[in-house]
Amino acid sequence: MAVQTVETSPATGATAATGTPAVDFGPASGLSCRECGTRFELGPIFACAECFGPLEVAYDLPLGDPEALRKKIESGPANIWRYAPLLPVPADVADKPNLNPGWTKLVKADNLAREIGVEPGKLFVKDDSGNPTHSFKDRVVAQALEAARAFGFTTLSCSSTGNLAGAVGAAAARAGFRSCVFIPHDLEQGKVVMAAVYGGELVGIEGNYDDVNRFCSELIGDPLGEGWGFVNVNLRPYYGEGSKTLAYEICEQLGWVLPDQLVIPIASGSQLTKIDKGLKELIALGLVEDKPYKIFGAQAEGCSPVSAAFKAGQDVVRPQKPNTIAKSLAIGNPADGPYVLDIARRTGGAVEDVDDQQVVDAIKLLARTEGIFAETAGGVTVGVTRKLVEAGLIDPALTTVVLNTGDGLKTLDAVAETSQASATIKPSLEAFRSAGLAG
Ligand SMILES: *Cc1c(COP(=O)(O)O)cnc(C)c1O
Repeated sequence: MAVQTVETSPATGATAATGTPAVDFGPASGLSCRECGTRFELGPIFACAECFGPLEVAYDLPLGDPEALRKKIESGPANIWRYAPLLPVPADVADKPNLNPGWTKLVKADNLAREIGVEPGKLFVKDDSGNPTHSFKDRVVAQALEAARAFGFTTLSCSSTGNLAGAVGAAAARAGFRSCVFIPHDLEQGKVVMAAVYGGELVGIEGNYDDVNRFCSELIGDPLGEGWGFVNVNLRPYYGEGSKTLAYEICEQLGWVLPDQLVIPIASGSQLTKIDKGLKELIALGLVEDKPYKIFGAQAEGCSPVSAAFKAGQDVVRPQKPNTIAKSLAIGNPADGPYVLDIARRTGGAVEDVDDQQVVDAIKLLARTEGIFAETAGGVTVGVTRKLVEAGLIDPALTTVVLNTGDGLKTLDAVAETSQASATIKPSLEAFRSAGLAG
């Protein structure tokens, strides 16, 4: 693998590779600006040199006979690399040291469906707590890691609301990178321990996520951050592509059929926008039959800038100061907010929020009905789904997929107080009888 020299481009604040990349990005044909459409060569850049808009990976689609492509995917590994033909990675990516996330369960949630008024057989939970570091972030990090490898970065970094830090630490450990990640100082213990245990550097920043993110942007433009791949900043175009695999998996697991309705959590909004991108690609490739689908975004009331803008009919997202137990979603100034609004409106979906008590109730509802223990972000999506069904915005007769993006073991505090032993007794039948718990 060719290691390239990197230099700072004053125009974009980005670190740009010099020379022609001797790297293989599979089917990706370049980067394109989401605002003005200007095309760039694949490189460690993230902002358009013309208009400063965000860049995304572009492909030359379609890729040939859909039936052959479907077969090739189906015979691939049981992880995200089965979709390597649709991702900016070399064909032999599965042979490289990587955590190989993905291919998580799509659970038919009939019990939950009955409780919230959806037709049994129509409600599914895509449970991404089954990833290597127990959140959806392993998908995006796996992509960014391959880009970091290709560009010759030696340190992997990120600004994180918690889960990303753990995913970066683990992926770096596996792939032999140094890692140094940044989080708000006051995260849940489960997130802090997960981020530190893999042996990389973990830095708590005195401030909220938006302060952490601003700090990282400064670090990228400084010699201190030279040679660093920030997965969600200068590698963001590649990072984002990892979220497309959620769209691919959901459709393949439904039998190569598009769901009618999806409920997706919003932090920066990247995941939601890339799931939409993934669904559109499947249609363009002929891998699924084209039909309308609705995308619903979910936020916690204590950090609901996108939901507030949606409800006010605005195109701009006014930043908020987060105050919610759903810390993994606590981004007050979401980079992809305007794109989320556009997708929700264009597909006939919506953006809704629930308060912290509803988050807790929804975590326990999902646990009690389906045996899935979600982190607070999963409480947000399940709570919002319930609210949207009640409001008549989600059609109970159509297929709905709700995302659970993280594991409840990382946010124990949310439910610890109300999830305790039913009784504490002496080890005797007498005592058990007295406790009145015999079925
Ligand atoms: C990061 C994260 C998300 C979504 O993040 P985006 O920035 O919107 O892509 C959702 N759920 C969990 C648990 C997360 O950690």
